[in-house]
Amino acid sequence: MLDVPPQPRPDADTEGFWQATEHGELALCRCRACRRWQHPPVERCRECGGPTSFERVSGAGTVFSFIVANRASVPGFSELAPYAVALVELDEQPGLRLASRLAGIDAHAVEIGMRVQAEIEALPGGNYRIPVFRPVPAPPE
Ligand code: ZN
Repeated sequence: MLDVPPQPRPDADTEGFWQATEHGELALCRCRACRRWQHPPVERCRECGGPTSFERVSGAGTVFSFIVANRASVPGFSELAPYAVALVELDEQPGLRLASRLAGIDAHAVEIGMRVQAEIEALPGGNYRIPVFRPVPAPPE
């Protein structure tokens, strides 16, 4: 049996997200009227009902919360365990949060409030690319 991760299934709401990752970019849904970011993506703005489209985000953010997976909960990640999955609040807007795996750090060293940066990497088992977050050094005080 192949140990590969589940593959994304883009639909009308998420297609823009996967098109961006294909080009190595992180893009999220944003209202074209009131300019509020929306995640998960929606066809119409949750605030004002305006039309939405995908726009690139910086990928910079802060760990809002996280879990440590001591055993992989989905196929294809067993070699990575233990790993951390974090809810990252992006700098673009308070409350704009994206869940993703943290890379390049011991899962037990992750802390809430840690600064992270998104990177796009290949998802094994197909042609999709996905965001992961890596810690960035704190600026000197
Ligand atoms: Zn709006």
